[in-house]
Amino acid sequence: MSTSREDAASADIGVIGGSGFYSFLDDIEEVRVETPYGTPSDVIALGELAGRRVAFLPRHGRDHRYPPHKIPYRANLWALRSLGVRQVLAPSAVGSLTPEYGPGTLAVPDQLADRTHGRAQTFYDEGGAVHLSFSDPYCPAGRRAAADSAKAAGWRPVEGGTLVVIEGPRFSTRAESQWFAAQGWTLVGMTGHPEAVLARELALCYTPLCLVTDLDAGIEEGDGVTMEEVLRVFGENIDRLRTLVADVVGALPAERGCPCPRVLDGIKLPLELP
Ligand SMILES: [Zn+2]
Repeated sequence: MSTSREDAASADIGVIGGSGFYSFLDDIEEVRVETPYGTPSDVIALGELAGRRVAFLPRHGRDHRYPPHKIPYRANLWALRSLGVRQVLAPSAVGSLTPEYGPGTLAVPDQLADRTHGRAQTFYDEGGAVHLSFSDPYCPAGRRAAADSAKAAGWRPVEGGTLVVIEGPRFSTRAESQWFAAQGWTLVGMTGHPEAVLARELALCYTPLCLVTDLDAGIEEGDGVTMEEVLRVFGENIDRLRTLVADVVGALPAERGCPCPRVLDGIKLPLELP
């Protein structure tokens, strides 16, 4: 394992694996990256897949040491960009706020609602304000590639919808869950924010791949969500999801024609990006 970044270590596409998604690539080189925002969740595995250079980082650390509110989100995104990554795929386990989207459903949401608090959610908190558009939080080309790959692999993906990100680590009360559903929000998770906005701040493409593991408390009739249930359903689907993420890697455009690379154009940044 390398102890510092070597010049040869680089990637184009980053995959940030969520709970239960701790490995991805074969034939890897592992690099340890330090950033101005601290150490990422784990060493980063670099490898090749579908002709693309890919960096894999387990969001919670391989031993699941970081709960959602303690994940070093800024270090993770900064480290990926410093390795050359410009497109990020973010598979994660989510709850469903819609009875029709049961466990095992794959969703590629197009909106996000932030209900977290106290998380560092910008790189630009000194030296002048940077206001970026976040009206459409996800990469349209990445979402297209994800949905098309999913269909080709026999999934029936839910295209669109709103992922509400809660602070956690507890699950929602029934009242909260019913309130989220009443807003028209469809999915609930704990890590999609600030990950998506930090990617945007670094002009990265960011695409969520949400695997439904449970019906959230306000929808389910039983005792509510448990971590055992989440991990069991995720475990049942992990091989399929891993294959899908590999397919999406191969389907992402080699040249970015989406708006993501240009979000910082004309803005004077208070710091230099890696
Ligand atoms: Zn993009």
